[in-house]
Amino acid sequence: MQLIDGKKIASEIKKEIAGEVLKIKENGGKVPHLAAVLVGHDGGSETYVAFKIKDCQEVGFKSSLVRFEDDVTEAELLAKVEELNNDPDIDGFIVQLPLPKHISEQKIIEAIDPKKDVDGFHPVNVGRMVIGLPSFVSATPYGIVELLKRYQIETNGKNCVVVGRSNIVGRPLSVLLSQKGINATVTVAHSRTANLEQVCASADILVAAIGSPEFITAGMVKKGAVVIDVGTTRVPAPETKSGWKLKGDVKFDEVAPKCSWITPVPGGVGPMTRVALLQNTLLAVKGW
Ligand code: NAP
Repeated sequence: MQLIDGKKIASEIKKEIAGEVLKIKENGGKVPHLAAVLVGHDGGSETYVAFKIKDCQEVGFKSSLVRFEDDVTEAELLAKVEELNNDPDIDGFIVQLPLPKHISEQKIIEAIDPKKDVDGFHPVNVGRMVIGLPSFVSATPYGIVELLKRYQIETNGKNCVVVGRSNIVGRPLSVLLSQKGINATVTVAHSRTANLEQVCASADILVAAIGSPEFITAGMVKKGAVVIDVGTTRVPAPETKSGWKLKGDVKFDEVAPKCSWITPVPGGVGPMTRVALLQNTLLAVKGW
């Protein structure tokens, strides 16, 4: 068994991006500028946005944080999206989800200029990705594909099972893995899948994007499989300073010995998700 070290690869990619930014500066080009819109004070969202700003600083991007309180109206948020769409200094921006219940997330996503939609959630970007056109690809699937490529993990003709069909992880990842160039034969599994255990055990590459800690057990994994664990659930851990730790969807201790390659949690897919947003922001300067 070998570990797929997302932390290491993400740090290499960050160095590459920082190098690109230096070149841009030397040539008098435009330094990438990412804006993040944060509504309210949800702990998870605060942390994610703080990481995004910190990542920008590390690679030399400009960043801006736009904050609203929980009681912001949908109209006010739409007006801000429009302002960012029209601001020539902003190359890309994200609106951190989830949003308060009185605001339609879909309406906000669809108001973002697809050329600035570095989260890749706008239907135009999803559609372009599906038909293989250049697009912003949502960060987690982008990061996973990058990991497979950089570890030179064979995907051609492999049976790939993606457990989870969300719009931000499972669904787009399943499309990417089946594309020309990657060439996997993909099955998308979900909560209504029959015989899930056998379906998973048929996978050469198994991706778990469920959100259920330690759901994937050794009996669901073929010997020699590649296992990508997307799950990040906070579970109580009194021994840690924060009182919690992250658990993946894979029962690591019993699954890892059966695998050829496996991602750890934390330190696998998470850091790649963060760096993918930077890759999209760099792309936003040139445009797709
Ligand atoms: P989600 O929107 O809740 O989707 C979960 C998917 O899992 C759904 O498609 C659901 O099926 C399926 N599922 C749930 N229970 C199942 C079961 N018993 N058997 C088979 N399938 C089942 O979650 P998500 O946003 O995709 O995120 C998934 C996990 O990845 C979460 O832990 C999240 O925190 C984590 N995540 C991590 C990163 C990272 O950077 N590491 C990024 C994004 C998400 P149905 O569609 O039938 O309900």
